Amino acid sequence: MKSAIYFGKEDVKIIDSKMPEIADGEILLQVKAVGVCPTDVKAYYSGSHSIITPRVLGHEVSGIVAKSLNDKFIAGERVNVAADNPCMVCDRCLRGLHNMCRNLTSLGVNVDGGYSEYMRIPADYIKNNMVIKLSDDVSFVEGSFVEPVAVSLNALSLARPEKIKRAVIIGDGPNAMIHLQLLKHYYNVPEVFVTGMMRERLDMAIKFGASKAINVLENQDELQNIKGDIDLVDITIGNKKALDQALGYLDAGTTLVVFGGSLEDSTITTSMNQLHYNQITFTGSTGTTLEHYAEAANIVNRKILDLESIVSRAFPLSSLKEAFQYSKDLKGLKGAIIFD
Ligand SMILES: [Zn+2]
Ligand SMILES: [Zn+2]
Repeated sequence: MKSAIYFGKEDVKIIDSKMPEIADGEILLQVKAVGVCPTDVKAYYSGSHSIITPRVLGHEVSGIVAKSLNDKFIAGERVNVAADNPCMVCDRCLRGLHNMCRNLTSLGVNVDGGYSEYMRIPADYIKNNMVIKLSDDVSFVEGSFVEPVAVSLNALSLARPEKIKRAVIIGDGPNAMIHLQLLKHYYNVPEVFVTGMMRERLDMAIKFGASKAINVLENQDELQNIKGDIDLVDITIGNKKALDQALGYLDAGTTLVVFGGSLEDSTITTSMNQLHYNQITFTGSTGTTLEHYAEAANIVNRKILDLESIVSRAFPLSSLKEAFQYSKDLKGLKGAIIFD
């Protein structure tokens, strides 16, 4: 079988490898679709301290059970495999912080992921319900979105989403489009604004339900006009300019969520009185929890969001590097690796 092996910065090779052997309690998955995540792209171009190499990347995975040595599954079932598996026994897991588990196993980090024709699913993943059956009418591409939807739910849940009336999403990437759709079509938020720099992506935001999609390079006035009574400012891209823009929207009761990691770190400055008198909340979000995985699986299976349209280009495994380049160059919206 063919696998894309990551050896380090700008070093990925497609090689013929042995079919993975599975032990009792495990599953062999025939991979059908893998979303190309910005995390993979960052690892490819900038290297990674956490990934144990050599490693197969790709953590937004759906496919068909090819062989099962676990009672919960039979060959032929269509499934998604969640990305990060918490240990459930460490102090952080016991506090509900599964996303910051001290013994987290993660596809593409310390377990092989989906950029491969077949992959082994460890028994622990199945035990924690991290392998999710897909509805018959959900495509493999849609099925690959459980993880990005789950991490988005983790971020938005920190801002009391049921109460939001007006939200600003900073950034126009694929995750921003998921946040937008969740706010509009799952939490029924009346007004959601998206700000970004790519015309094509901003047009997509309108299609996905944005009240306004504002180009920050062309329309500074509009950025000012939407100020006032903003409940949520959601930073989906990690840079200083996004942070500066976000601080301009702070108002009574605003929650500011930092969703995107930053290559270059920066400091948030605001006054104590601003925090106090306006009851501002600053929070970050990383990864997700088992509860949000279950909720995301339900959202994907009920087809509440238009996930298919987020994938703007499909690539075969042999073009993985091209898919990384496509993502790095901010072409389209999101690439996916599709297997025949
Ligand atoms: Zn991802
Ligand atoms: Zn843990």
